[in-house]
This record gives sequence, C-alpha cells and structure tokens, in this order.
Amino acid sequence: MSNLIDKLICENLKALQPYESARRIFAGGDSDSETWLNANESPFANDFNIDTEHFNRYPDCQPTSVLLPYAKYARVHANQLLVSRGADEGIELLIRTFCTPGKDSILICPPTYGMYAISAETCNVGIERAPLQADFSLDMSAISACQGKVNLVFICSPNNPTGTTIDKAQLKQVLELFADSALVVVDEAYIEFDAANTWSTELAAYPNLVILRTLSKAFALAGLRCGFTLANSDVIQSIMKVIAPYPVPEPVAQIASQALSHNGLKKMIEQVEYLHQQKQSVKQQLSQFPELELVGDDKANFILFRHPQKQALMDFLVANSVLIRDQSKQVSLDNCLRITLGTQQQNEKLLALMASFFKQQEISA
Ligand SMILES: *Cc1c(COP(=O)(O)O)cnc(C)c1O
Repeated sequence: MSNLIDKLICENLKALQPYESARRIFAGGDSDSETWLNANESPFANDFNIDTEHFNRYPDCQPTSVLLPYAKYARVHANQLLVSRGADEGIELLIRTFCTPGKDSILICPPTYGMYAISAETCNVGIERAPLQADFSLDMSAISACQGKVNLVFICSPNNPTGTTIDKAQLKQVLELFADSALVVVDEAYIEFDAANTWSTELAAYPNLVILRTLSKAFALAGLRCGFTLANSDVIQSIMKVIAPYPVPEPVAQIASQALSHNGLKKMIEQVEYLHQQKQSVKQQLSQFPELELVGDDKANFILFRHPQKQALMDFLVANSVLIRDQSKQVSLDNCLRITLGTQQQNEKLLALMASFFKQQEISA
C-alpha cells in the first residue's frame, strides 16, 4: 500500500479481509462448464420480460409493484416492509441505522452467515459472539451475558451453514430478553424451504423483531440482488433515513414483481418441492460413503457434512469442475463441507465423483 493510502484508509479497515463469497473464491470460473453447488443458489434460471419504456426515469425508492405483492406473500402490511439490494444490504442498513461506529456492538451466534461480522467490521461496529451449542441450538446463558452490550442480535433460521431451524421457545426468550435493549434480527433467507417456521406473523407481538428475506435462494434470483426487511413501521421508517434514494433499479423491480405474481409463486413452490426431493435422495446416498458424517439439519437447500479427507475430496471435486463450499474454518465445523442441492443431473454428477474419490482412497489404502 502506498504511504498516502495507508495514511488515509479507515483504521478499522486496515486488517479487514473482504468476505470470501463463493463467487470470489472461484472468480473467473466458467459457469457453463462448471457445476456450481457452492453458493446456495437455485439451479433454475427462469424467464422474465423487460419493458424499457421508463428507463429514462429514476425509479421509485420503494416500488409498490414489488412492495405490495411481497407484503401479501409475507403476510405483513406494506408499512412493515423495505426492499433493498439483497438481504445483504438489509444487514448493512440495520447496522448503519442502529449502531454508532466506534461505540455500539452486534451479537452473532456462530457458526453462521459471514456477512453480519463483515458488515459490522466495515462500519467500525463491535462484535460479540455467543457460539451455538454442540447441537446448534442457542446458548441462552452466553446470549444473556450480552444483554445491555449490543444493539442488534443476528439469528439465522434456517441457519446457514448448519441447516438447523432455531427453536421457537428459544427465539421467543431472546426477543423477551432484549425487549428493551436490542432489535432481534431473524435472517429468513431460506424460509421458503421451512415455511411453517416463519416469524413474519409475529411482528405485532414483538416490537423489537426484524426479519430478513431474499429472492436469491428459493426464488432463484441471486443475480437480481433483491431482498426485504420486515419490521414494525418505526424500524422501517428509521432505515429509510439511511437507504440510498434509488436502491431498486427499474429492471429489478419489473423482474421481482413477475417473480411475485401468482405464476411466479407457483413456480417457486414447485422448484422448492423438487429440491426437497433431491435433498432426501442426496442425503441418503451421502450417508453411505465411508467416514462421512452428516452435520446439522436439512431445513434449507444445502447439506453439511464432515469428512476427515475433506481437503483431498474438495481438491478432487474442483479438479473435476464441481464446486462446493468449504466451511471448515467456522467454529465447531472442522472438516466440514457444504453442498448446495442442484438439479438431479448435477447432484448425480457430484455423487458419482464422490464415489470414485472414495473408491480411489480405498485402493490406495
Ligand atoms: C444468501 C444469504 C443472504 C444474502 O442474500 P442476498 O439477498 O443475496 O444478499 C443473507 N443471509 C443468509 C443467511 C444467506 O445465506
């Protein structure tokens, strides 16, 4: 780094490593020749229409063509909803709105999604950690110990990468514990795969409840960058002070509103059902491999497993153009890899490669 840049860059950014998104790790990869089972994306690419008529105008800050159908889908009022550039922007907006840099902190429960910590670090906001227990339930005493120390509590359910849903009674306890001191943010990025367990109908009961949603996973629109924050209207109004004037580009609004139409929702539900079926069959076959231990639960569109040869297996898959995600650097997840469910064909390719890997191991042993 040059002297000037070194002198100017914010103190809290000096040691920060950028988030290693699945895309960055394999940047420049060819998505047609490679099988991407590493980012919890949907394997389906659905068709949409674009009308260019208003492209010369700035878009609405919060387009009702997206807001109204999503509010109906999520069973909230339009004033309890905010559209943003993915759920990731929702995370950052919450931190920027409710945490004072250099003073306030958030609470996270690892192993979990990496962006809560990265966003906090880039905003110079502190991080308290209450790791999940061995069975990936919340550690209530570690969480209680943070009461009064944090402004936001991030809880991912179903949790990425463990696939576990947080117990209702535990989450209720967390909401009550922080009723007077913090917002409790339930990240429901994968809720379509576990729809019965949503918290979206509980906003009236808990003034400090916030929910994050996205079109990136079950709705098969990771490329769109469209996500939602669900919260009581005073929370939404506060975030509106911080959000950019035009956060939702016009083509994004058009596509999102088509994805949320009757037909769009029907397609999403069918694709979720397909992936559930794939998940059962892939899990069953994975469990037959030697020394392979399934880890966590299957409430989302991915499977986590542990294997003592995880590095050799990972290298073998990459060499054969099948990309999955290493999760072994997270607490409690030593030797763990995560597979996103793809199409039947993609899943079979992965399983066939794994079978030949284990066969090779057996011969050389
Ligand atoms: C993928 C993911 C997100 C990010 O969603 P975007 O809308 O694509 O920004 C947020 N939270 C979790 C837990 C995720 O897995």
